[in-house]
Amino acid sequence: MESIEIKGKSRNSTLLIGEKFENIGKYLPRKPIYIITDSNILKFYEKDFPNGKSYIINPGEESKKLSRIEDIYRWMLNNDANRGCFVLGIGGGVVCDIAGFVATTYLRGVEFGFVSTSLLSQVDASVGGKNGVNLDGYKNIIGTFSQPRFVLCETQMLRTLPREELSNGFAEMVKHAIISSKKLFGELENDCKSLLSLTEPQATWHITESVKVKARIVESDERESGLRKLLNFGHTWGHAVEKSTGMPHGKAVSIGMEMACRLSMKKGFISSDTYLRITNLLKSFGLPIRTNLNFKTVFEAMLKDKKRNSNSIDFILIKDIGSPVIEKISIAELQQLTLKND
Ligand code: ADP
Ligand code: ZN
Repeated sequence: MESIEIKGKSRNSTLLIGEKFENIGKYLPRKPIYIITDSNILKFYEKDFPNGKSYIINPGEESKKLSRIEDIYRWMLNNDANRGCFVLGIGGGVVCDIAGFVATTYLRGVEFGFVSTSLLSQVDASVGGKNGVNLDGYKNIIGTFSQPRFVLCETQMLRTLPREELSNGFAEMVKHAIISSKKLFGELENDCKSLLSLTEPQATWHITESVKVKARIVESDERESGLRKLLNFGHTWGHAVEKSTGMPHGKAVSIGMEMACRLSMKKGFISSDTYLRITNLLKSFGLPIRTNLNFKTVFEAMLKDKKRNSNSIDFILIKDIGSPVIEKISIAELQQLTLKND
């Protein structure tokens, strides 16, 4: 088990990587516990739940809406939750987003922690203190910044996670390696098979390393001004793909990373060997790198995206594996560089 401290502006957060869910009691304060979880998690892990009241949401992004939040506030009120209560989210990104948002707004904020059960939420969503819900088709536009007291990540809980969901997490792990370290990228190549089968000790080691990459970036830039932009590698195009096709996040980001690498290659930043090395690793994790996209629709979705400022888009490219750069690319150039899908 490895414990990583993240220093946030308002408070610190402890990431417990490789800790067992059955040990959750060690980390909970002596306070009434209000658990928020989804029905899949309940089915598999209810026996290990700590004492407390539980609110069960339907699995999936559909639950991330204000009407659900309102219902949870009411449930808390009706169950006498006061400032001295503790909210525990047990689940993937959706549950943690909802739990974090409820906890930071109910009575202007009560303490909270997460048991992060999907790979995507372990290596990505639970680090960084962001939470939020969707509104009118816009993802995460209502939310707050606030660090949970702890995030417990048990690798072996990922065994019950559907394969598709596991791939989503691998996409972010590959991203973390690409933007931070050639060495870590090489280790991912070596351990790909062990990771796919969640073999220990490789699985926990890689999750820990991946979390550390995000934690270091978030710590130095809690409010997303400079460095944190690097985490958007593959996401500018990826979000547009996700939005226009409804594809799962990780798959869309994989396609976005391929695009960012292709742009990097066309600009002469990386060789075709490096491009192939990256796309091969994505493929080994079962991730797509190309699909039959309606290019025009994706392009328009990207232009609508919030990261656009005037006539250019900040694109994260790479000069090498481990060396990301933020490049302002004009819309015209982008269109020219990407239109021919070759
Ligand atoms: P994210 O990928 O952002 O974490 P979700 O919270 O929606 O998104 O989780 C993805 C799906 O996987 C949901 O249906 C959720 O119920 C399910 N899930 C999450 N963790 C586990 C787990 N450890 N075992 C089985 N299913 C899980
Ligand atoms: Zn992402």
